[in-house]
Amino acid sequence: MIASVMPTYSRAPLTFVKGEGSWLIEADGRRFLDLGAGIAVNVLGHAHPALTKALTDQASVLWHTSNLYNIPQQQALADTLVDLTFADTIFFTNSGTESCELAVKMARKYWYEKGHPEKIDIITFSGSFHGRSSAGIAATGSEKMTKGFGPLLSGFTQLEFGDHDAIATSITDKTCAIMIEPIQGEGGIRPLPDACLKGLRDLCDNHGLLLILDEVQCGVGRTGKLFSHEWAGIDPDIMMIAKGIGGGFPLGAVLATENAAGGMTAGTHGSTYGGNPLGCAVGSAVIAIVGDPVFLNDVNQKAALLRQNLEGLVSSHQDIFETVRGAGLMIGIKCKATNLEVVNAAYDHGLITVPAADNTIRLLPPLNISDEEIGHAVNRLDKAAAQLTNNT
Ligand SMILES: *Cc1c(COP(=O)(O)O)cnc(C)c1O
Repeated sequence: MIASVMPTYSRAPLTFVKGEGSWLIEADGRRFLDLGAGIAVNVLGHAHPALTKALTDQASVLWHTSNLYNIPQQQALADTLVDLTFADTIFFTNSGTESCELAVKMARKYWYEKGHPEKIDIITFSGSFHGRSSAGIAATGSEKMTKGFGPLLSGFTQLEFGDHDAIATSITDKTCAIMIEPIQGEGGIRPLPDACLKGLRDLCDNHGLLLILDEVQCGVGRTGKLFSHEWAGIDPDIMMIAKGIGGGFPLGAVLATENAAGGMTAGTHGSTYGGNPLGCAVGSAVIAIVGDPVFLNDVNQKAALLRQNLEGLVSSHQDIFETVRGAGLMIGIKCKATNLEVVNAAYDHGLITVPAADNTIRLLPPLNISDEEIGHAVNRLDKAAAQLTNNT
């Protein structure tokens, strides 16, 4: 008999009932150090007082009206994000997938309005992840995600991640945009070198294409800048965000330049819940903390500490681990042992990590994790690796 919860996930046998900062408490009382953060969502850990206050204060006043009316909390968050980023205008969603949908629609509408309805093709990359909607899986293109769900939305061309020559030669008269994660998350924490991102920007400028960045996982302070593309010193035309922006409340957004959003006039797109008062109140509380340069400086220091410790760990467990990669507090460890075995062994030692493609485990801690907790995490991963060595 099918489970009452549709069985699309193979879940770990863990049930968390409470969260405190960087810690999750299991129903049986065990305390786990959370280096998954709900897959890069809980940027300020669990039950952060400022976020709890923002949510409960708003909840006691007004939950939902509709985008048929002005929403002051949405206006405030939009103004803040416009101030802090390349963007001139923002559309709020509830998830990364919805942000992907809009990014695709916006890029096509842009060219339609310019008198080029034939420009519908979007270049994407192998190993990418843009969500589970029909557009999202078509953009990703992997057999694992698309098989059995056809016919797929047409107009996506997948190239090898980072293969510049292939990109230049794949651009045609029908190409409208390039869409890429500055650091692939689900794909196994594969960073695109800054020089490549700069190269993509130039390529887009030379061919008049829109550059769409998917910062759903790598954005909102994760890499030590508010948004990861800032490291490369370039701006996208359109950027998708979600995950961290809500700190655990479902919230996403598409940020765009005035030019790129030129086709998005009244009636062209909408959402019942997108930009609701609860989500935007929390989003503003997140950005008030994470957008502070002093906070981001701390993230970089913590990242350096964690990275240095992990390099040592990997070299002392060469039978289990291969390399460390990533940026800031978005770290992947490519494993020699099976990544799921490593994740499970870490559970045995009270540590949560997240598996990803390319036999990688991901460390995506809360951005306010303490130095002491970083020490605990490395220690627990060390014990997990030793356990695996002893078992083989
Ligand atoms: C998680 C993720 C998505 C999808 O976001 P959802 O909120 O799960 O819909 C899209 N792109 C990237 C890079 C992601 O990591």
